[in-house]
Amino acid sequence: MPYLHRSLRPQPQPVPRDARTIHSSGQSFEQLRQGCLQSGTLFEDADFPASNGSLFYSERPQVPFVWKRPGFWQHSEWLDVVIDDRLPTFRDRLVFLHSADHNEFWSALLEKAYAKLNGSYEALKGGSAIEAMEDFTGGVAENFPIREAPEDFYEILEKALKRGSLLGCSIDTLNASESEARTPFGLIKGHAYTVTGLNQVNVHGQRIKLIRVRNPWGQVEWNGPWSDSSPEWRSVNPEEQKRLGHTALDDGEFWMAFEDFKTHFDKVEICNLTPDALEDHALHRWEVTTHQGSWVHGSTAGGCRNFLDTFWTNPQIKLSLTETDEGQEGCTFLAALMQKDRRKLKRFGANMLTIGYAIYQCPDKDGHLSKDFFRYHASLARSKTFINLREVSGRFQLPPGDYILIPSTFEPHQEADFCLRIFSEKRAVTRDLDENIDIDLPELPKSTPQEEETEEEQQFRALFRRIAGEDMEVSAEELEYLLNAVLQKKTALKFKRLSLLSCRNIISLMDTSGNGKLEFEEFRVFWDKLKHWMDLFLQFDVDKSGTMSSYELRTALKAAGFQLSGHLLQLIVLRYADEALQLDFDDYLNCLVRLETASRVFQSLSVENKDFIHLNINEFISLTMNI
Ligand code: CA
Ligand code: CA
Ligand code: CA
Repeated sequence: MPYLHRSLRPQPQPVPRDARTIHSSGQSFEQLRQGCLQSGTLFEDADFPASNGSLFYSERPQVPFVWKRPGFWQHSEWLDVVIDDRLPTFRDRLVFLHSADHNEFWSALLEKAYAKLNGSYEALKGGSAIEAMEDFTGGVAENFPIREAPEDFYEILEKALKRGSLLGCSIDTLNASESEARTPFGLIKGHAYTVTGLNQVNVHGQRIKLIRVRNPWGQVEWNGPWSDSSPEWRSVNPEEQKRLGHTALDDGEFWMAFEDFKTHFDKVEICNLTPDALEDHALHRWEVTTHQGSWVHGSTAGGCRNFLDTFWTNPQIKLSLTETDEGQEGCTFLAALMQKDRRKLKRFGANMLTIGYAIYQCPDKDGHLSKDFFRYHASLARSKTFINLREVSGRFQLPPGDYILIPSTFEPHQEADFCLRIFSEKRAVTRDLDENIDIDLPELPKSTPQEEETEEEQQFRALFRRIAGEDMEVSAEELEYLLNAVLQKKTALKFKRLSLLSCRNIISLMDTSGNGKLEFEEFRVFWDKLKHWMDLFLQFDVDKSGTMSSYELRTALKAAGFQLSGHLLQLIVLRYADEALQLDFDDYLNCLVRLETASRVFQSLSVENKDFIHLNINEFISLTMNI
């Protein structure tokens, strides 16, 4: 059943595969291009004008920028984001591009498309090249500080290259003045290099690990051991040199010993690609599974483990690892948690939330894990930190088995949509534990003969007769009067009075004869139910506030037989809780009555398959108006 909810708004996909038209004119790239070709003019983008407003949203520019068009530019067919080709320049140089090659405009235009997607160039500030790369490839970035790199780092990089991952490396700078400074070895600090190959050579019977690095400037190379014309190559036979593609060209690409690489570089970034972003003939691929979800205030925005009371309400995702890596005892996987759309919201004051995740061993029983589980069990693994980045990713190796991964924001009650991706060496199975709905309805009790009634029931019968009048049936108004008369005496429940609406709902639930009124038998069955629900209310109102918080409600509903999906819980909180996320007894009762009515109707209609019913529009609307 389609229903509207904020977490279900259409999610932007990685750009290349989302061909939505996003230009305000409503025209697609093809239409805009056709228009320009017919009129013989160059395209000017009114949505993203060549003005300071597109460069900045909060700062005034320090220098006057001039927007120029590259003269040799050809329209690229594959861009889904339509931009014109004006680029911000200062003193005839591109402002937002770190390429010395004046002819290479495609990356600048890519950057412009990215800036348009995000509102302005300034919104990109603090976003790294790898983040843009992730957006354009749909991949997942991993960051390795080389000093802390794992023992099998060479093998990790080797596998990454085989999988077609994009690899970048760089040397840290201590301050801004060091940026782009050249070291005595010909390396540039704070500059983004790419890793293009790994190989080993035999030298006097010894195997030496080499790495090939490229400076995207197309010049300025490493001049230490194994560089283009270094003496080390003389001890390598020409065939080996050919195999490694060794040439002494000043093309920006060079080999160096892996050990030297680890000494001279500080950071390696790997952008792991999903199989669909790779060429078909790529032999090695990650297996990827994706989960979309949301943290919603009051239902699934539980915060990190520091907040035990709410942590358990976060979405929980079960991860089953069955096959170990080739020749290994463990199963390797990357878990990448991404918050969505925050960068676009930046100009409206939305910052990145601090996010992360924890991984627990899955207990034998199925279903959403409760607060007590987390009180007594420590996590097996975690994201390295909780951090305010768009994406947090980590690499793990765990023995085969079942695990529960819990994505969360650091603080509770913070709202965002997220996307969790698991990249695994071998196939892994993931399942969202919060999609399970399990409803356990009690049998409706048989009626007791009048002569076996308890004293309480006899008193009720008398009261009922007084209010119902001669027909011995109560209308919604009469029921409202009756229930309030009885419940006023229950001082442990804090509420003003039961609403007429609740009483109408109760009649919908209990009126088996279908005349819109309750006869005594129907009322008596309801009274037993009400007593049970009152007990649950008192039991699960843990802080004795007299109201049910949205978190207390979740456990109370479960005890009442309703294990609901994350989406349903979010809807219930939106509908029944007040701004402080509290439900008074009337809201609580209403919620339970409607849940039980809906469940019983479903049960009676789903005779063939207990998970589905078929309704036409008339039946559907009749039902929803009646529930
Ligand atoms: Ca070279
Ligand atoms: Ca009736
Ligand atoms: Ca409470």
